[in-house]
Amino acid sequence: MKRGHLIIVSAPSGSGKSTIINEIIKDESLRLQFSISATNRPPRRGEADGVNYYFLSTEQFKAAIENDELIEYEEVYPGRYYGTLRKEIERICGNGNNAILDIDVKGAVNVMKQFGADATSIFIKPPSIDALRHRLLSRGTEEVEAINQRVSKAEYELSFADRFAHVVVNDVLRTAIDEVHAIIKECIEK
Ligand code: 5GP
Repeated sequence: MKRGHLIIVSAPSGSGKSTIINEIIKDESLRLQFSISATNRPPRRGEADGVNYYFLSTEQFKAAIENDELIEYEEVYPGRYYGTLRKEIERICGNGNNAILDIDVKGAVNVMKQFGADATSIFIKPPSIDALRHRLLSRGTEEVEAINQRVSKAEYELSFADRFAHVVVNDVLRTAIDEVHAIIKECIEK
């Protein structure tokens, strides 16, 4: 059986990445499955172990690194580690499904290096930094200070955009969904 592809999607927080992915994953013909990452951050309300993430203690996360269970990991926020489990990719790709990796820009570059032609990468961009700030403010889930932090992180992340195979600007949501859908379809049919 043909092994599945890895589809790496990165975007600054507030770029609409989750909305886009959740819409595309509904198309069963693409055989997409989320790669569930491991993290040592605590679950947020409504999140469940094995659904949103595999929630590990810091000790467990360190053991996973030691035992080479992760294909990549990054300290995305201070003290907060996130990583892609080798077993998770095997589980998804081994039976011909395609794995969607929603990971940060450094993790994305790392996976691209390791997987070459078996992976494709998509960077989703907000139309501008100002638009991003407005989106984060209107979401209303964070304090101004946290929003400022996310905006400056976004500026850093945007500097990685040209390392990705595809860049999609999320200005009009429907258009962005269609573009990402077309990229994924082309990649898995290759
Ligand atoms: P959150 O804590 O909001 O769920 O995720 C924070 C960030 O961690 C997001 O930017 C997400 O892309 C990144 N992330 C999630 N899983 C992984 C992973 O397995 N590896 C890396 N490198 N980043 C990840």
